[in-house]
Amino acid sequence: MFWTRELIARNAPVRRRAAPPPGEPPHLDRGVAAYLGLAIGDALGATVEFMTPNEIRQRHGVHDQITGGGWLRLKAGRVTDDTTMSLALGDAILATGGVEATAAARAFDDWMRAKPVDIGNTVRRNLVAFRQTGNPQAPASEHDAGNGAAMRVLPVALACYGQPEKTCIFANRAQAHVTHHNVLSDAACETLIFMVQDLLAGRDPIDVERRRAEKLASQHPVFAYDKKRCENPSGYVVDTLKAVLQSFFATESFEDCLVDVVNRGGDADTTGAIAGMLAGARYGLEGIPRRWLAALEDTTRQACERQAKNLLLQAGMQPQASPTPA
Ligand SMILES: [Mg+2]
Repeated sequence: MFWTRELIARNAPVRRRAAPPPGEPPHLDRGVAAYLGLAIGDALGATVEFMTPNEIRQRHGVHDQITGGGWLRLKAGRVTDDTTMSLALGDAILATGGVEATAAARAFDDWMRAKPVDIGNTVRRNLVAFRQTGNPQAPASEHDAGNGAAMRVLPVALACYGQPEKTCIFANRAQAHVTHHNVLSDAACETLIFMVQDLLAGRDPIDVERRRAEKLASQHPVFAYDKKRCENPSGYVVDTLKAVLQSFFATESFEDCLVDVVNRGGDADTTGAIAGMLAGARYGLEGIPRRWLAALEDTTRQACERQAKNLLLQAGMQPQASPTPA
């Protein structure tokens, strides 16, 4: 699939990626950067969530600072459900030693009881149903194609790093179907997981695009992202992925990718979070602007760093499991 790369207003500076500290495997550096990227994109995008690109231009010019505010009136450096649900899932994976549906559902339910700053409608509805039935799998629904499962796939990508694809797919569906039991959501989640894992392994982004993003668009043409620039993306997982993939493949630095995607407005905390995850996995810690890392709330930064390392350590201890049917 050809993407014209004409949509970015300015040239992206190419930043050299520094080597990780001696003795630390590169995928560990990139895994931590992916988690920090998720949180940074969430915190950056939340300020302009539900705004149109025009409204953003009028109020901020180019929105490129973590300032808080937005409709949630966040303190600068605070994150939203995208990051906190990911952390809740990652803790459950570490506690149980794998991705398990009931453990994930309980973790999300506990997260909801703690009164998060925001929560999606589909997430709320299906967690209330879990509370009533104890069944951690929501019924399949063509309407539940929001981005709420796709925004929290990172712990699965890290915990299943090095595992066969079928194992990753099975693991993801266990967590995703707690709230989003939908074919398009599954396709998006799986594509993101494989993209993160490819990038952690150091694969060339051009190769990643061909193997993963173009495959998604060929299997589900609704995801074709090479047409019109996706502005003001909604919470529909197709819109979200289109905006993220356009920004990710048309830029050549962590900063340009995130600035491009959040200035599209719409569901900007989630597009920011997903793009930040991919960009972190691609550019590593050295690619993350210091000002953004410093702006992130300390407790969140530490939780992301710790969890990324522990999930990858846990993945490293897993035997190469035989595929589990998806
Ligand atoms: Mg959010």
